[in-house]
Amino acid sequence: MAKIILKKNEERRIVKGHLWIFSNEIHLIEENPENGSIVDVYDSKNKFLGAGFYNKNSLISVRILSRRKIENLNELFKERILDAYELRKASLSGRDSYRLVFSESDFLPGLIIDKYNDTYVLQVYSFGMDKNIEIVCNLLKNELGAKNIFSKNEEYFRVLEGLSTEDKIYLGEITDEVISDGEVKYNINFTKGHKTGFYFDQSDNRHFLAKFVSGKTILDCFCNSGGFGLNAINGDAASVSFIDSSETEIENVKKNIELNGFSSNFDFVIGDAFEELEKYKAEGRKFDVVNLDPPAFAKNKKNLLSAIAGYEKLNKLGMEVLVNSGFLVTSSCSFHLKKREFLEAVHSAARKAKKEIKLVYFNTASMDHPSLPEMNETSYLKFALFFVKDL
Ligand code: SAH
Repeated sequence: MAKIILKKNEERRIVKGHLWIFSNEIHLIEENPENGSIVDVYDSKNKFLGAGFYNKNSLISVRILSRRKIENLNELFKERILDAYELRKASLSGRDSYRLVFSESDFLPGLIIDKYNDTYVLQVYSFGMDKNIEIVCNLLKNELGAKNIFSKNEEYFRVLEGLSTEDKIYLGEITDEVISDGEVKYNINFTKGHKTGFYFDQSDNRHFLAKFVSGKTILDCFCNSGGFGLNAINGDAASVSFIDSSETEIENVKKNIELNGFSSNFDFVIGDAFEELEKYKAEGRKFDVVNLDPPAFAKNKKNLLSAIAGYEKLNKLGMEVLVNSGFLVTSSCSFHLKKREFLEAVHSAARKAKKEIKLVYFNTASMDHPSLPEMNETSYLKFALFFVKDL
């Protein structure tokens, strides 16, 4: 096993629980390890810290896999995947579809696995994981009975690791799946859908929404496959208006309504949420509950300020189309935007919209997205419920 020795004091973050070693923290690399191979990492006093995947082309030179020496990768992967599976079974009773593996948070760095019944969709974002992906696929097949396994990667992260960007089918074929997420069913189209096909991270928050919307009018902005609005209907909402810029997604929402046999008052808009909100504001159209779940505005640290301005503008518009004493349900999935900054952006929006707000509830991602407290890269989602009154 090749050996990597860190510079003095660079072990501190790793000892606390972080799993990434950056290239500038390394003092010495012995034996010229191959990309994707497993290396043993030591502190400057030659104390063993852990073993992980090496990649000389990435800023993240080592991703720690284990705090023990690795004898058998197959055994380690099996333990990790079965641990992740047992955790989901224990915490998400009755569900067959969820995020089975959430990368570093499940101690499988650079590997995301979303499970849709017997179909497993992978995102593979580390060189070592990519090199050993056959082990993962065999375990999914032999231990969990996978019928279909394929990848749906985001190019950006593959490029950072120096990996090819085409997706692969590892087992079976790509077919649609119908999944149940709580009491709502969804048709998943893997070819046309976003990410791996579904946003599991908001599952618990969607179920939460259903609890306080009975008899209310709902506006679901950035609705994607309709998760928030569909749960609102399930919670006896009086009406739901769906907005998404993607025609495919709005078609999908309609299919999902049919699939669930829901009947209620719906309307659907294919368009830009900012523009539609401006229109409703001009018309004086109001809703009891407004849900805002936009894509990440802060893709990197550099555009954080413009992203904050974007969240402020969106939340201001959201509040302006709320009835007096309405509910604003607002999310941000920008990792670079911290909880404090997000809540400040909403507060600033409230001041500009001349509203008085109370934070009623705050949450992060669902239970199938665990996080490592010492590694803030593993938590990104912010979900907040505000009670909003006119000043
Ligand atoms: N709320 C969804 C997830 C939202 S993902 C759920 O519960 O599953 C973000 C969605 O915003 C995507 O479907 C994307 O098509 C849509 N979108 C992106 N920019 C938009 C814009 N300017 N106006 C409206 N929708 C937009």
